[in-house]
Amino acid sequence: MKKPYRKIIPLLIIIILVPTIILSLYQISSLNQSEKNIEKVYTSELNTILGSINEYVGDYITDWARETNLFVLESRNGNDVTFKEYVKKFLIQSRSINMLVTSDINVTSDLQIISNNPDTLPINIRENIKNILKINYSKIKTLIEQKRSGIRNIVAIKNNLIGNNVLIIFLLQLPEEKNEICGFLINPENFIKWNLSWKLKSITGNEFVVAVSDQNNTRIFSTGEDSSATIEQQANINFLPGYTVNILLKGVTISSLVKERSIRNLILISLINLFLIIGLWFVLKNFRKETELSNQQTNFVANVSHELRTPLSLINLFSETLVMGRVKEREKELEYFKIINDESNRLSRIVEKVLRFRSIEENKEKYSFTTEDINSLIENVLQAYSYQIENSNFKIRFEAGANLPEIQIDKEAVIEVVINLLDNAMKYSNDRKEIIVTTGLEREFVYLKVKDFGLGISSANQRKIFEKFYRVQDGLAKDKRGTGLGLTIVKSIMDAHQGRIEVESSEGKGSCFTLKFRSNNV
Ligand code: ADP
Repeated sequence: MKKPYRKIIPLLIIIILVPTIILSLYQISSLNQSEKNIEKVYTSELNTILGSINEYVGDYITDWARETNLFVLESRNGNDVTFKEYVKKFLIQSRSINMLVTSDINVTSDLQIISNNPDTLPINIRENIKNILKINYSKIKTLIEQKRSGIRNIVAIKNNLIGNNVLIIFLLQLPEEKNEICGFLINPENFIKWNLSWKLKSITGNEFVVAVSDQNNTRIFSTGEDSSATIEQQANINFLPGYTVNILLKGVTISSLVKERSIRNLILISLINLFLIIGLWFVLKNFRKETELSNQQTNFVANVSHELRTPLSLINLFSETLVMGRVKEREKELEYFKIINDESNRLSRIVEKVLRFRSIEENKEKYSFTTEDINSLIENVLQAYSYQIENSNFKIRFEAGANLPEIQIDKEAVIEVVINLLDNAMKYSNDRKEIIVTTGLEREFVYLKVKDFGLGISSANQRKIFEKFYRVQDGLAKDKRGTGLGLTIVKSIMDAHQGRIEVESSEGKGSCFTLKFRSNNV
C-alpha cells in the first residue's frame, strides 16, 4: 500500500514547523534583548536620579563657598566685626556647618575660626585642623594649580582628628593674587537631615525608597519604611566621604520583574508552539486516516469484485455442466447442486453485507427490540449453521451460562452479529478447527464469547479491525477472502444495543471476541 503521507510529513515540517521554530527562536532572543534593554534603561534612569542628588549636594556646597567668599571680600573692605556677625548668621542658617575656618596658604600663622558653639567643637580643633591641612597639603597644591587654570574646586577631607565631621576646603577668590584657604566643618548627618532630606523626599516615587547609609552601612536616613526592600542602585555622596545614597525598590526588584516577564513570555511562546505541534499532529493523523481509508476503499472494490466473481464462476460452471446433461450419476448431480446452493448462499451473504453496510452508513438501519433469551438464540444459530460447520470439519462447543436474564435485542441483528463472528472464527483458523461459544453474566452485562484457536490478531491491528474496510494486510490473514465490513457491521449493531464488543487475541494462538449486552434493560 502506498503511503503518500510519508511525503507530506517532511513537507509540512518544512512549510510550517521550521518557520515557526525559527520565528520562536528569534522571538526568544529578541525578547531577551529587549528585557536587557529595559533593565539598562531602568538602571540608567536610577543612575540619573542618583546623579541629580549628587548635583544637588554639589550646588549646596558651591553656594556656601560662594557666599563665604563674599563675606570675606566684604570684611576686607569693611570691618572684621561685621564679617563675624555675617558668618555666625550664615552658620545658623546652614544648620549643618559647625564652624568656618580661614588660613594662609602654607598654614603657618594661626587659623581664624568662627563658630556659634565653640564648646561643641572637637577638642584641640585648631591644632587638629592645622595638622589635617598640612597632611593634605598636596590637595591644597592641586587647588592652587586648578585656580591658576581658572578652575574653582572644592575638596572634602575626612580625618579621625575631627571625628565624624567633614572638612570642606577651597581657595578664596581675592582681588589680589594671594591664595588663602577657607573651609567649613560639616556634620554629615545634620547635612543629610536638614539640607538633603527635602530633595530625597521629593524624588521618592511610589515604587522606591531612597535611603542614606554611613561608612558602617548603618541606615541613617530613609524616605520610607520598607525593610524588606532590596538595594537596586547605590552611589557615594559627593563631599560626604563614606556616605552612600541607595535606591531601594519596594517589593520586587527590576531583575526579578524582568525575569518574571521573560518567563511569562517564554511560556506563552512554548504554549503556542505546543498548540501548533498538536494541531499539526491532528492534521497529519486525519490526513493519514483519510489516505488509509481511501486505500482501503480501493482495496474493498477489488475484494468485493473478487468475492463476487468466484462464486459466480463456480455457479456458472456447475450449472452449465448440469444443464448440458453431462453428469450421469445421481450422487455427482447432488454434489453439484450443493455447490451451486452454497455459492449462491455465499453470494447473497456478500450482497447482504454490502447492503447492510450502506444502510448503516446512511443511518437508515431500523431496529426492533424484543425480549430474548441469549442461550436459545445461540442454539438456534448453531443448529441452522451446523451443516456448514460440520462440512468445514469444525467442532463447536457451546457452554451456556445458567439462569441468565433475558435481554432486549433486535433478534435478526444479533443473529447476524453471531454469524459474522463464527464466520471469522472459521475463516481465520488453521489446523485447530475448534470454536468455543460461551455465555454468562458479569455484573450488569450478559456476555457472549466466541473463541477460536486460529491466526490471532496483533495488538496494533486489534485497535483497527472495527474500522470500515479495514483488513489485516500481513501474515496468513491477507490470503483470506473478505470485504473488511463484517466487524464494522458488528460494532455498529452493538452500539445500537448500547452494548460492547471486546477482543482478546494473541498472534498464532487465537482470538476471543466478547459481546456484552446490558441486562438491566429487560
Ligand atoms: P473481513 O471481511 O476481512 O473478514 P472483518 O471486518 O470481519 O472483515 O474483519 C476485519 C479483519 O479482522 C480481518 O481482515 C481479519 O484480519 C481480522 N479478524 C477478524 N476476526 C478474526 C479472527 N477470529 N481471527 C483472526 N483475525 C480476525
